[in-house]
Amino acid sequence: MMHSSENTPYTDVAIIGAGPGGYVAAIRLAQNGQRVTLIEQEALGGTCLNWGCIPSKAFIYAGHLADTLEKAAPMGLIASHIRLDMARLQHWKQTIVQRLTGGIRQLLIKHGVQMREGSAAFVDPTTLAIGDELLRAQKIIIATGSVASPLSMLPVDGHRIVDARHVLDWHNLPNRLIVVGGGVIGVEMASMMHHLGVPEVSIIEATPSLLPGFDPDVQTLLLKSLTARGIQVHLNARVLRHHSGIEGISLEVALDKHAHRGSEKSSDSDLLSADCVLVAVGRKANTQGLGLETIGLPLDDRGCINVNCHGQTQFEHIYAIGDVTGGPMLAHRASHMGLCAAAHIIDPEAGMAFSPMAIPSAVFSDPEIASVGFSEPEAKAKFGDAQIKTGLFPWAASGRAMAMSVDLKPPVGFVKIVSHAQTDRLLGVHMAGAHVAELVSEATLAIEAGATVEDLALTIHPHPTLSEGLMEAAEALHHQAIHIYQPTRP
Ligand code: FAD
Ligand code: NAD
Repeated sequence: MMHSSENTPYTDVAIIGAGPGGYVAAIRLAQNGQRVTLIEQEALGGTCLNWGCIPSKAFIYAGHLADTLEKAAPMGLIASHIRLDMARLQHWKQTIVQRLTGGIRQLLIKHGVQMREGSAAFVDPTTLAIGDELLRAQKIIIATGSVASPLSMLPVDGHRIVDARHVLDWHNLPNRLIVVGGGVIGVEMASMMHHLGVPEVSIIEATPSLLPGFDPDVQTLLLKSLTARGIQVHLNARVLRHHSGIEGISLEVALDKHAHRGSEKSSDSDLLSADCVLVAVGRKANTQGLGLETIGLPLDDRGCINVNCHGQTQFEHIYAIGDVTGGPMLAHRASHMGLCAAAHIIDPEAGMAFSPMAIPSAVFSDPEIASVGFSEPEAKAKFGDAQIKTGLFPWAASGRAMAMSVDLKPPVGFVKIVSHAQTDRLLGVHMAGAHVAELVSEATLAIEAGATVEDLALTIHPHPTLSEGLMEAAEALHHQAIHIYQPTRP
């Protein structure tokens, strides 16, 4: 057991983990005169830049482009024989990742942040061991992120049974892919693999809907769109066991026939075969090897570190931010928590607190989905059914969306607004369709600012843009939509 002494190197703030939580906190602290040491055991940028948000969105964009070009003949763009060169796609994606992580390294260097490679663990509440060296710190921020949750009957082997990280490193695509888990990673990866040309893609989801927790209208549209494209979706389904062989892998799956096929309700099991199975059943806080038991820092019953609105744990000099504190496990939440923890360390009196009215989320499936605030059922549960109003504007009535419809089909999706009937306060916005992730920030700002639906409706939006959809949905909520016919006023 190592012990710290007077001679142990010292830093104002030590940050464990250089993902979007840790590196953002490091830069903000250094901007404000703190001596910062950022410790990373694997790769600067963490999950987000190396094995998550950025590489997956690069692949998703490539797949989307291929799909769009294939459909663009009615527009006069005849792109025949689009061929996927996986080696080039991998090289392109890796170049993007390297440019971004290289840029962050330069920013950290310019701000004077000390970077240490290695795995950090607590020796005592103010000392970390990094390999066989010690570092004392006045404040410590734990930003160690999350890891994929395992599924006991489908142990990941990197070959037949993989997680999202393996998929993003593939140089050869399978012909048949089963995705276990119809959450965010599941639907993004299934859409992406279908677009990149994997002929057979299916999803096995344990609950009655894809994307549990999202607004039901969004869930229904997503299910319809994925199945219309030939992606098989099995809801209320559970993997019982698997068998791997030279030919591939087969799963014995308990299926709810009622939910799956619309027939009489009964439970049965089926055998599904594939070349490869992607396990995407959630992520769990990464606290392994941190030595939290040594210092007596407890985890909650989900294995996460509990923090207050400044990110402080029960040791007031030890902070935790991002995925390691639980959900929603999103990069922008991790970064915002990092900024709040940094602000509190810089000035405990003036520092901003982490208390968002709403955290937006975007799912880069096809159709794209974006959501912020209360879903309709959540709003009804909180305020009562009679207090909730909704307004919906379909992209089929949007000039801009139509002008982007390469195959001349009515654009898929909508903007749905949820409001409080008495106060007209905006409670939630849920969207599906092209580029909706770019629209959700306006809705988030509106909710944060306590805006009413009328505020959204009266704001002049540029034409022709998709952002007009927000204004039109607000007008629809008041039965005043211009571009859709609403026969009766309630
Ligand atoms: P991480 O990014 O996980 O970083 C933690 C870092 O800590 C890692 O680099 C790790 O090596 C390091 N570390 C851990 N333990 C130690 C230790 N003991 N010593 C030193 N270093 C240590 N979110 C979005 O908002 N949008 C998206 O589009 C999106 N797409 C995603 C796609 C995929 C496939 C996945 C898996 C995730 C995606 N996410 C997305 C989630 C997002 O990546 C995470 O929410 C985000 O990275 C969390 O940031 P973090 O800083 O908390 O942790
Ligand atoms: P998730 O929680 O979004 O979804 C997991 C899904 O697996 C759920 O639908 C759950 O019901 C299902 N499931 C659980 N056990 C199952 C079983 N035994 N059989 C079948 N289905 C089962 O988790 P995820 O998709 O793994 O994503 C992990 C985290 O990464 C999420 O917190 C997400 O926010 C984040 N992420 C975000 C983005 C984005 O913002 N665009 C993209 C990817 C990942």
